[in-house]
Amino acid sequence: PSAPAGPGLDRARAVLREVFGYPDFRPGQDDIVAEVLAGRDVLAVMPTGAGKSMCFQLPAIVRGDLVVVVSPLIALMRDQVAQLRTSGVAAAALNSSIEPDEARAIRADLEAGRLRLLYVAPERLGRPDTLDLLARARVATIAVDEAHCIAQWGHDFRPEYREIGGFAARLGNPQIVALTATADAATRDEIVAGLFARPPAVFVHGFDRPNLFLAMRPKAVLRRQILDFVEARKGSSGIVYCTSRRQTEDLAAALEGAGIRALPYHAGLDGQVRSANQDAFLKEDGIVMTATVAFGMGIDKPDVRFVVHAGLPKSIEAYYQEIGRAGRDGLPADTLTLYGTDDIVLRRRQIDESEASDEQKHVERRRLEALIALAETPRCRRVALLAHFGEVDDQTPCGHCDVCRDGVETFDGTVAAQKALSAMVRTGERFGEVHLAAVLTGESTDAVVRFGHDQLKTFGCGKEFAKTQWRAIFRQILALGLAEVDMTAHGRWWVTAEGVEVLKGRRSVPMNVATVQAAGERRAK
Ligand code: ADP
Ligand code: ZN
Repeated sequence: PSAPAGPGLDRARAVLREVFGYPDFRPGQDDIVAEVLAGRDVLAVMPTGAGKSMCFQLPAIVRGDLVVVVSPLIALMRDQVAQLRTSGVAAAALNSSIEPDEARAIRADLEAGRLRLLYVAPERLGRPDTLDLLARARVATIAVDEAHCIAQWGHDFRPEYREIGGFAARLGNPQIVALTATADAATRDEIVAGLFARPPAVFVHGFDRPNLFLAMRPKAVLRRQILDFVEARKGSSGIVYCTSRRQTEDLAAALEGAGIRALPYHAGLDGQVRSANQDAFLKEDGIVMTATVAFGMGIDKPDVRFVVHAGLPKSIEAYYQEIGRAGRDGLPADTLTLYGTDDIVLRRRQIDESEASDEQKHVERRRLEALIALAETPRCRRVALLAHFGEVDDQTPCGHCDVCRDGVETFDGTVAAQKALSAMVRTGERFGEVHLAAVLTGESTDAVVRFGHDQLKTFGCGKEFAKTQWRAIFRQILALGLAEVDMTAHGRWWVTAEGVEVLKGRRSVPMNVATVQAAGERRAK
């Protein structure tokens, strides 16, 4: 894509330099700022620290109008307002920690059109007096920070976020700019549906960490695999994420036995021991932390040279965050994730047996399948990972992951993919994989009969694979981007433009041999 240009963007760049003292835009910022300046609604997904705030701050200054920023955290608001004021930008925050005097001053500034940025907590925005005030102040844009808070099944769900769309309507539907660092396809869909009156331009930028080598491999002799990996990097600082407290201590002992300095870290350790271990890791070189996922939040050690997962991470988002703790200094760092069928079975059972609602369980299952699809991907792992985050600009294999380096043994899965995709198409792209697998293997389930799908040409056309293998094939199809699956509703599958190419016989489909075979063996056991 060509670099966006225009007088507005030039002025924004000048403001970036003169007001904030930064030489130029960070990657992605220019596209987004140009779109915001053009008056369109925007959803921007960028990792933490990428510089999302600038995407609404610059337009406010360039246009000289009012941007209302909805932000869930008072501390965050305070920081941003203080920073803006230091740079000479008229900014203020309305929240529960504001004194009446201050609130009065803010009101006067608003009415006089002096404020460029007003930060409000979502619950404050909904108050009748706030809405009245804003209606008079002429809001040009509502910027919604941490927009993933709107997602019902997310970790940060804030019910007040669901109301923002309604408040915007009462303010005459100003431009909406939503920003978040966490948005898989499901969350993006929820944000778009819940916040915007019209479809926004969606930008996903900056998730690639090119200095990280990515690798995922099935567990064999787990302890040996970890020892070999760490011994080959002796003297470097690293983290081994474990699946239990017990494992952190066992592995630390095993590594010590091999002459490597290793310390365990988990929430069950005595507080003093825990912080002593953490301090040692931060201050000294060459310590390996064997830790549960409790370790790492807010830890900023730039020279972590590797991150190992001794079991399947919780989700792709968790995987991304955890490997992201390596190589913050930008120098090469290694990651390795070891996963096993036992992890997958355990995770499925945990979801089934949890207290969550059926709908939420459904979402959790979809997230798990997406993670397994990433583990089993037959194409460049980085391309597959970035595609999960919606960053699909560049599909060139990276040359810096295990799949690019070692390849995977593949078979020609073109016919299998065509069968699966045509089962989706012929059933109206409205069904989940259990139903589709039944159609393919010719199983007359109640639903199959009820919808008349036993009359389709595809019914029973895929008997060469077991149902478990078809599910593995669906994951391959997902990893290759030939079809997509609805993460929120009933798990319906639909065919992408790439998938249409396959159906038309214009491209072939390599699939991971081991994965599809293993799915058959799992059934045989
Ligand atoms: P995010 O909201 O994406 O986590 P922030 O908006 O807080 O990130 O920005 C992170 C830091 O990067 C801030 O200190 C910000 O001032 C700085 N920053 C933003 N844009 C640029 C830029 N173009 N050049 C250099 N620094 C920038
Ligand atoms: Zn690659």
